[in-house]
Amino acid sequence: MISLSNRLNAMEESATLAMARLSRTLRAEGKDIISLSLGEPDFHTPQFIKDEAIRAIEQNYTTYTPVAGYDELREKIAHKLLRDNGLTYSKDQIVVSTGAKQAIANAVLSLVNPGDEVIIPAPYWVSYIEIVKLAGGIPVIIEASVEQDYKITGQQFEEAISSKTKMFIFSSPCNPTGSVYTKEELFSLAQVLEKHPNIAALSDEIYEHINFAGGHHSLAEFPSIFEQVITVNGASKAWAMTGWRLGYLASSKTIADACNKIQGQFTSGTNSITQRAAMVAMDANPQILQDMVNQFEKRRDLVLGYLQKIPGIKVNKPTGAFYLFPDVSAYFGTSYQNYTIANGNDLCMYLLQEANIALVDGNGFGAPKCIRISYATSEEQLSIAMERLTEALSKLGQ
Ligand code: PMP
Ligand code: GLU
Repeated sequence: MISLSNRLNAMEESATLAMARLSRTLRAEGKDIISLSLGEPDFHTPQFIKDEAIRAIEQNYTTYTPVAGYDELREKIAHKLLRDNGLTYSKDQIVVSTGAKQAIANAVLSLVNPGDEVIIPAPYWVSYIEIVKLAGGIPVIIEASVEQDYKITGQQFEEAISSKTKMFIFSSPCNPTGSVYTKEELFSLAQVLEKHPNIAALSDEIYEHINFAGGHHSLAEFPSIFEQVITVNGASKAWAMTGWRLGYLASSKTIADACNKIQGQFTSGTNSITQRAAMVAMDANPQILQDMVNQFEKRRDLVLGYLQKIPGIKVNKPTGAFYLFPDVSAYFGTSYQNYTIANGNDLCMYLLQEANIALVDGNGFGAPKCIRISYATSEEQLSIAMERLTEALSKLGQ
């Protein structure tokens, strides 16, 4: 019998991907499941990006690329970071990866030694914690409640720091809460980091353009901590390119070189055709995304409208990404027929089986009182799903 590694056994399966898999299986069995589980835009990749990919194949961009990505792509990313974020990076400070997920893994594996502490505000995106554990790091969680719009304060951050703290990881706009840190809120985190120059901060900005409040701010904007910050972004969300697998990080040259070295042993450069296509996405004016962002905002209002009418649900008003993350703990301890709801997982299973809607339990996001609703689907589907949710919860009572 071949045993699996301790490393693997200690790892949780991605809760988002697990629910997406389960809902695909049920759909294949003929069930009318509305999946609000996976965080991916339901829009198609814009035509000008697809055209560039076709051109890349025809022009034989089909061989290995430099590990960190084509020079021309990294120059365009540097230009994008200056144009949209006011950040000055040279191409040597940028590493292109197979999705933002790999960029995060590269950074964590490059920096974290076994026993090092990594501070992560909860609710957090599911993969941060597992990547940290894979590196032997110890996640240190700061809880941010719905009452504080799921955002931590500088003071909470400071209190979580110890002599073992190596890294801080967060996202804004945030998956799973949709919360967006203002410039002032980021500044309060920056002031703490400034006092601890040996702590690296990974700022995951993959939802940068999906922002209804306007004005995305990057943590690296504050010059005194610029060298400490690793800015992560990619093409998946803004350009509806989740399947193409293109993410990147920008950091000090030392960290970028380290990530390049790790990636050179794991996967090499990401797909050559994807990289060529991403060049035109990086050059495009983000203003053309406004239509998509407006649609997401309308959908947020629609789903929020339903949630606010359901008794017992507590929810914030997110200003970015495409998720709502209600606190549903008022329903724990309820039952209906042979269903007993002790936690978020029971509730998601009940909603899947009784109401045919797939949502993700908050446990994997470090917030067991909550469930995540991804509203990246049509208004029509969302209305049906929310009617089903309302009815299923009313059967449970409280
Ligand atoms: N960070 C966050 C916060 C995400 O939600 C996702 C979702 N995919 C990623 C990173 C990874 O993105 P990618 O598809 O580019 O790997
Ligand atoms: N990031 C998306 C989500 O949170 C995609 C799934 C994943 O990569 O975990 O649903």
